[in-house]
Amino acid sequence: MSSYIIDNLRKIHTRIEKACTLSKREVSEVRLLLATKTVNPENIKIALSNNEHLIGENKVQEVREKYEDLKSVPHEKHFIGHLQSNKIKDILKYGVTCIQSLDRLGLAEKLQNRLTLEDKHMDVFIQVNTSAEKSKFGVSPDAAVSLIKQVASFDRIHIKGLMTIGLFSDDKKKVRACFQLLKQLQQAIISENISNVSMKELSMGMSGDLEIAIEEGATIIRVGTAIFGERAYPDSHYWNENISNSETQR
Ligand SMILES: *Cc1c(COP(=O)(O)O)cnc(C)c1O
Repeated sequence: MSSYIIDNLRKIHTRIEKACTLSKREVSEVRLLLATKTVNPENIKIALSNNEHLIGENKVQEVREKYEDLKSVPHEKHFIGHLQSNKIKDILKYGVTCIQSLDRLGLAEKLQNRLTLEDKHMDVFIQVNTSAEKSKFGVSPDAAVSLIKQVASFDRIHIKGLMTIGLFSDDKKKVRACFQLLKQLQQAIISENISNVSMKELSMGMSGDLEIAIEEGATIIRVGTAIFGERAYPDSHYWNENISNSETQR
């Protein structure tokens, strides 16, 4: 019935392999994260039982709603959407192991407090707005190092890398520039030698631009549409602060 998901996964892995070959990287250096926003648990399970392991959700509500159904299937769950600080509790409750979208100090402070209270730890990536689009979240590249130094002082939060959403454009050079910027930032941060900061991970590349991201050093690519099909909502629903949950229009 839903074998299209398995077919699509095969196609994605072929694309990953080709891109790795071209850039002389090992396939094992690039992890596929399934971007599962709007995807029902049944379809997520099809992918997970087909050798996939890592999923990413954009909305805390979806993390919560799918939790029971997915609990019995081994997987790892990252949060990749805009996080409001009043939802931190749920992130901790429903098995998220990494927040890829940490982009501001206030959120980190509240996360640290909650983690301390619950005696827990959390991995994070710092989300950087490499495309300078106002509609996208993420710390500006100029402010990234300073934010990272501050977040690094929180003993319960462990920075593991950077995340970005590339420019949506047919101009591949401009898309590539976003990924190159993230890579440069990674190198700059490594050279600062900040304790409690690892810069191993670069989460970048989606359905349309994963090859470019792999060529530029992605260690995690986040793919939704090319696996599960088109979504009913535009991505602004997930990325634009001015559009709330209930009032999305096309
Ligand atoms: C939806 C989403 C993706 C995947 O995008 P596709 O174009 O569907 O592959 C990746 N990253 C984030 C943050 C997303 O919200």
